[in-house]
Amino acid sequence: MAHERGYAASLRGRDTFGDRMHAITKTIHFSYGHRLLDYAGKCRFLHGHNGLLEVEIEADKLDRRGMVMDFSDVSRVIKGWLDEHIDHKMVLAKRDPLVKTLSATGEPLYLIEDNPTAENLAKHIYEQAHTLGIAVSEVRLWETPSSYARYRAT
Ligand SMILES: [Zn+2]
Repeated sequence: MAHERGYAASLRGRDTFGDRMHAITKTIHFSYGHRLLDYAGKCRFLHGHNGLLEVEIEADKLDRRGMVMDFSDVSRVIKGWLDEHIDHKMVLAKRDPLVKTLSATGEPLYLIEDNPTAENLAKHIYEQAHTLGIAVSEVRLWETPSSYARYRAT
């Protein structure tokens, strides 16, 4: 009977705990400017955001302290990198024609290969985190309080 199958399936789910993971999320606030190339909307002009970054780290086992990772280690490494490289800087594509002018005036820039959309910035931060030794599973970059881009391991 369908009812029995459903009940047996729910018991199996409770017994095996298969595919369940621990996860922690650290949120980090930072400010950045950018402009988008190849884009007709108002974001083609220089403007800024108060970004909210959420980095998630997963683990199937906790360490001896009972942690996925110490929140303060995540903050020290990832917030430290953001503070040094992106916070209060203009994030531009390397091919942006404004790069030459703005660097000549001493504006602090952070240049990336791709158009500095929230999607590309989330991917860039994901890759940086891995380079810095923090194996994040997902990065969500809130560009505004109602819009975020996500990049994650599949
Ligand atoms: Zn923007």
